Amino acid sequence: MFSLTQFPLQFSEKALMPYMSEETLQCHHGKHLATYIKNLNDLIVGTEYEAMPLDEIIIKSAAAQDAKKIFNNAAQVFNHNFFFRCLSPNGGGNIPEVISKAFGDKEKLVTEFKSAAAGLFGSGWTWLVQDNGTIKILTTANADTPIAHNIVPIMALDVWEHAYYLDYQNRRADFIEAFLKHLVNWKFVLENMNQ
Ligand code: MN
Repeated sequence: MFSLTQFPLQFSEKALMPYMSEETLQCHHGKHLATYIKNLNDLIVGTEYEAMPLDEIIIKSAAAQDAKKIFNNAAQVFNHNFFFRCLSPNGGGNIPEVISKAFGDKEKLVTEFKSAAAGLFGSGWTWLVQDNGTIKILTTANADTPIAHNIVPIMALDVWEHAYYLDYQNRRADFIEAFLKHLVNWKFVLENMNQ
């Protein structure tokens, strides 16, 4: 279902400027994600996880007592591949009505998403997830991921410092604002919703 390989960017590394720099994409997609993939592939050699698809590795290692490193790297591979597909050079703008209606209120969605992402202490992720036709906001710490909890993600924002520090330094709120206004690939989010 999900691949252990790096999902290629669907745009050039310069395409998200000025909201996300070429340097950030080179470092984040080209180095951080590449390292999680290499670590994962090294860790699973010769283990029961070796032949599993990524989602199965995540679910099995989450439940195991001795597989924290495998879980962390596998979840980060999924989270990053998902996050980079949530970005688009023509992104942002109006939230599609089907999404705001499923959440309940457009303004509330924006306010609560910003507040959740800005308020997440330390490293982690802010998500839109789908639960029986309802859209909810969820935050996860460190590498944790909705699919480990049988929850369907439809949008992800990486709020680890490495996702924004080169461009925004300590101004995480500005990064969140730029993501919602200029970067979200709503087409991809809608596709996730319809699955
Ligand atoms: Mn990241």
